[in-house]
Amino acid sequence: MNVADSQRVASALEHLGYQATRQPEEANVIVLNTCVVRQSAEDKATSRLYSLRPLKDQRPDMVINLMGCLVGVKGYERLQKRFPFVDVFSPPSDPGPLVAYLTQGESRALEQAETEQRFALMDDDLLLPMDERGKLVASHVPVVLGCSHACTFCIIPYRRGVERSRPAGEIQAEVRSLVSQGVKEITLLGQIVDRYGKDIPGGPGLSDLLRMVHEVEGLERIRFLTSHPTWMTGELLDTIAELPKVMPHIEVPIQAGDDRVLENMRRGYTSGDYRLLVQRIRDRLPGNCRIPGVSIATDIIVGFPGESEAQFQRTYDLLAELKLDVAHLARYSTRPGTVAERRMPDDVPDEEKWRRFRALEELQEGISAEISAHFLGETVEVLFEEKVRGRWRGRMPTNKLVFIESEEDLRGMVRPVTITWTGPWSMQARLAGRSAAMLPLELISVSA
Ligand code: SF4
Repeated sequence: MNVADSQRVASALEHLGYQATRQPEEANVIVLNTCVVRQSAEDKATSRLYSLRPLKDQRPDMVINLMGCLVGVKGYERLQKRFPFVDVFSPPSDPGPLVAYLTQGESRALEQAETEQRFALMDDDLLLPMDERGKLVASHVPVVLGCSHACTFCIIPYRRGVERSRPAGEIQAEVRSLVSQGVKEITLLGQIVDRYGKDIPGGPGLSDLLRMVHEVEGLERIRFLTSHPTWMTGELLDTIAELPKVMPHIEVPIQAGDDRVLENMRRGYTSGDYRLLVQRIRDRLPGNCRIPGVSIATDIIVGFPGESEAQFQRTYDLLAELKLDVAHLARYSTRPGTVAERRMPDDVPDEEKWRRFRALEELQEGISAEISAHFLGETVEVLFEEKVRGRWRGRMPTNKLVFIESEEDLRGMVRPVTITWTGPWSMQARLAGRSAAMLPLELISVSA
């Protein structure tokens, strides 16, 4: 979501005539886009912000914009006192305050017209390579802002505010504009993306939005994330199966495999519900006899307050049973400001969290390797994004990473490749001899 927000602010600045730079020292405007999902991320963002202070002291005309979840949606008076060298504070996903600041008053407009203006976009870790934005093949578009769910461990609803869906026409126009700049794949984003439109009475839902985005000419692929087990409907699965540009890859977090832990997290479903959902997804988006048809990724938190060994074992067993394609694992850490922080002592020792984390990691590595091995020798379609250390990197419809060696310029192209090596997290391949149109259908995985 933050990468998408950064792209939006970069776009807004380019409209004002600014050019991106990777050197903060050269910039007239520095935007620091922040994530505070964990306390450690907030600490990093704060220290990055302090590191900009000497630059501001040397060049007081430089504009510093603090953006994102550190600012939040509920006012920033306290931050103003704490960081007086910051000129503009912007809530998540909103370039508006910066644009208003930069366009206010004639003198600033004149100054802009006379000199070359540059901006640097940073997050807490790195300087985003925004000067390569024009070459992006895959891009993200936020469609639902905020979240109204309030899981006990999560700070996002407090910082990003209540759920708000963006108008479908605005989203479609943004996708058109990205495609006209060379983007081939769009990922629609929301904290619970399947709830798109639920806050607009009579408004379109995610299925309708997928259909609208699907109409955009030149767009090759559509993805969406993150889903919530409660809101993934049969209608949505049917839409994925029906629309060829919508890729068969679903990101749907379970977080824990034990019902009491799920209740304490206030997730709103049981492990049984999740098991049924996985079955429904696989029934509706099946593969052929050799290749799995849909990939499912999940998120899991180990060491949630009160999680016993037996409860952890249920998570382990469920993951072993479901054999999902990907599991994003996290060790629980207390996030100040959340319900869990106020009411639930962080009582699983750190070394025990690590042990559980590694046990799941090892399990998942074996499962992912087994799933990837089905692809060996198969021909699949890959959208190539960029060349990394001499090899082209691309993704299958199921989001699996594929690398190939080729002298051709493959950026932005969808090409059939034959898989020559598989590992748990990526595969190697060579370009297949014939075009996709000439291949028998059953050999082309796997788009729904
Ligand atoms: S669904 Fe839960 S975890 Fe996801 S953003 Fe909303 S509150 Fe946070």
